[in-house]
Amino acid sequence: MAITLPELPWSKDALAPHISAETIDFHYGKHHNAYVTKLNAAIEGTEFAEMSLEDIIMKSSGGMFNNAAQVWNHTFYWNCLSPNGGGAATGAVAEKINAKWGSFDKFAEEFTNSAATNFGSGWTWLVANKDGDLEIYNSSNAGTPMTEGLKALMTIDVWEHAYYVDYRNARPKYIESFWKLINWDFVNSQL
Ligand code: MN
Repeated sequence: MAITLPELPWSKDALAPHISAETIDFHYGKHHNAYVTKLNAAIEGTEFAEMSLEDIIMKSSGGMFNNAAQVWNHTFYWNCLSPNGGGAATGAVAEKINAKWGSFDKFAEEFTNSAATNFGSGWTWLVANKDGDLEIYNSSNAGTPMTEGLKALMTIDVWEHAYYVDYRNARPKYIESFWKLINWDFVNSQL
């Protein structure tokens, strides 16, 4: 059972001007697609070949883990974005954010700081811990919350390939744009 590259939830030019079609062409069409291709090459003929993507992530290591986690992380990231997204959190997530941080603005400030200071390549996540409380979690490289017993609710990809075409080295400008695209309906659906 080969792992497949999922369809994007919107057209590749839908997130412009915040994230351009050219970025999506490279980020989805080249990077995400390459993780899928490399993962399929790695699992072929092994005990992992018939596993779900999540099982591969939980049971593999090294290059296979890196490619599997990056396939999952990118699909999750695309789902966190919407041309109709942005603004303050809604629904149950908004209530949990207020319970943890006191206000949406305080949460946004801390999440932005975590994403801006996540050194090198990685991901910044909003997660629910084992008690159901929300936390901000930074992972490096292909790191993903599920291996830490954390449930992913929202993520921003802070690898340079996520923003270099549109913003060059200016990660903070890319993070500003991320806030205008967050699909809070999807985030709520992950609770
Ligand atoms: Mn990426």
